[in-house]
Amino acid sequence: MSMGVNTIWRGKSSKLQRCKRCERHFAKDLDNCTHCSELNEQQLIAFKADYEKQLESNASLGRYLLISAIFIAGLLLVSFL
Ligand SMILES: [Zn+2]
Repeated sequence: MSMGVNTIWRGKSSKLQRCKRCERHFAKDLDNCTHCSELNEQQLIAFKADYEKQLESNASLGRYLLISAIFIAGLLLVSFL
């Protein structure tokens, strides 16, 4: 998770609650979670698996970008020598 997203989450956290069912955040003034209240148990499992996959792909994308940045920095360094 990037710094920017964390800052946004912290800022909004007073108005959000975490759903015990799907572990996502939704507005405190709502009784039902906006993410999973319409899902049955099977859909919820698929939904959570999908969410974890999404988090995983975000993490690998971050790693890929970092490696690319190091690679480009290395190329620049070599071209200056
Ligand atoms: Zn939920």
